[in-house]
Amino acid sequence: MSGEQNSAVGEQVSPDSANATHADKATKAVKPNKASKPVGAAGTGKPARPAGKASGTGKAAGAGKAAGTTGRTSGTTGKGKAGKSRGAGGAKGDEATPKKTVKPWKPESRLAMVRRARRINRELAEVYPYAHPELDFRNPFELLVATVLSAQTTDLRVNQTTPALFARYPTPEDMAAAAPEELEEIIRPTGFFRAKSRSLLGLSAALRDEFDGRVPGRLEDLVRLPGVGRKTANVVLGNAFGVPGITVDTHFGRLVRRWKWTEQEDPEKVEAEICEIFPKSEWTMLSHRVVFHGRRICHSRKPACGACPIAPLCPAYGEGETDPEKAKKLLKYEMGGYPGQRLAPPPDYPGRPAAPLGTGDE
Ligand code: SF4
Repeated sequence: MSGEQNSAVGEQVSPDSANATHADKATKAVKPNKASKPVGAAGTGKPARPAGKASGTGKAAGAGKAAGTTGRTSGTTGKGKAGKSRGAGGAKGDEATPKKTVKPWKPESRLAMVRRARRINRELAEVYPYAHPELDFRNPFELLVATVLSAQTTDLRVNQTTPALFARYPTPEDMAAAAPEELEEIIRPTGFFRAKSRSLLGLSAALRDEFDGRVPGRLEDLVRLPGVGRKTANVVLGNAFGVPGITVDTHFGRLVRRWKWTEQEDPEKVEAEICEIFPKSEWTMLSHRVVFHGRRICHSRKPACGACPIAPLCPAYGEGETDPEKAKKLLKYEMGGYPGQRLAPPPDYPGRPAAPLGTGDE
């Protein structure tokens, strides 16, 4: 997952009509209500922010949970009832709805930031109830290997590569005994295959010789393995051992800075500051939700602000496309009606599985 880039896969496959409904719903999430037309952030140079309170109470379901926040822009009670009564741009009784002035973003206390951060986490939990690690794995060893391979490439490419790899070398003992050239050839599609091959051979040998062929469940042991840093260790601990951890990859770092949860650039400092904001029990799922949001909506260069369900809580609203229709076209993966990154996603994933390597659909 390190150095993860947004996969271009979504741009290569046409959306199917069934999944396109996710995009519809996500877009509706922040389409300004006519009755409470956003008030321009005069003098700020930023587009008007969607009006209304961002309620953490909105209830919705499935991938379309983004739609559940629709009511938040209504400028009424802010209790967004899953778009039941106040769909985007379609509030009943426009005349009776008071206009709400939305103020430009301004500095907030630490307490206010912490409350807002936790509210964003709750909102994301509703939008992405199916958030999960986007690497395919069946045991801790596979997750460790897949995470090492994910440096400087997409999870999709790793997922397309690992079936052949694990069929050939299912255990640390098998992989440690691999011929380097053969191993390199199998992992070549993930890039940097010589360095990655050295890491896999080294970590497999260490697991065989020092840990009885098992992946250790402690951070201090994991980071001693060749090619394994703190980020990889946290991925493995959080998802294979149930040990809470925050994984700071490129998406996570970008989003938490946009949300002003931290100003740190160094991943370890980011991790330390975010850990202070959330209870331990939230750390692993928070990481997945933030990365899901970064990959689907809050992209690096073109965030889809106009289709973003947490726009009212975001200091960076307006950094990307605010027009709902244009923003909708920027949505990726299941939000845009495209396949996901996993060939074998969890059963609750509402999108389509990714295609295997070499099928012409990758
Ligand atoms: S920058 Fe835009 S897309 Fe990203 S979280 Fe803020 S409002 Fe949403």
